Amino acid sequence: MALLDIRTIPDQVLRELAKPIDNITGEIVRLSEDMIETMIGARGAGLAANQIGLPIRLIANDASLNPKEKSHIILINPVIVETQLEENGEEGCLSVPGYYEFVKRAKKVHAMGIDLKGNTVEFECEGQLARAMQHEIDHLNGVLFIDLLSPLKKNLFKKKITKKDK
Ligand code: ZN
Repeated sequence: MALLDIRTIPDQVLRELAKPIDNITGEIVRLSEDMIETMIGARGAGLAANQIGLPIRLIANDASLNPKEKSHIILINPVIVETQLEENGEEGCLSVPGYYEFVKRAKKVHAMGIDLKGNTVEFECEGQLARAMQHEIDHLNGVLFIDLLSPLKKNLFKKKITKKDK
């Protein structure tokens, strides 16, 4: 296993629409293992393939965020089929280092995807895991959590970033 480089803004790969995965090759399996290791190493709650420079529909999530689960989830071609309720929660992103802000997301989600064995998996989750799942799937669509901020907060974020560059 290997630690992968995590891409950060303004890397354009973070803005790409990730392509569906047709074949679960050995390479995809190895990549998934590396993504889990990279996510744990970086203390992230999730990681999408775009973040390691590959715009393909593959995400890793720390399932221990959900008290019922203990390990990690790898989902290929993940989709959210249903959402329920909304809640505000603080979020950060390994690709937007050092920035945390409250974002409104669905509280509960019904997600579907394919596991590394090629089986369709379907499950419901809530709270932190539901938030991370929505965050990672957004990554596959080129969307970052900073895009979901109010115009005022977006401006504050831009100012902060510009300051950093100087
Ligand atoms: Zn992220």
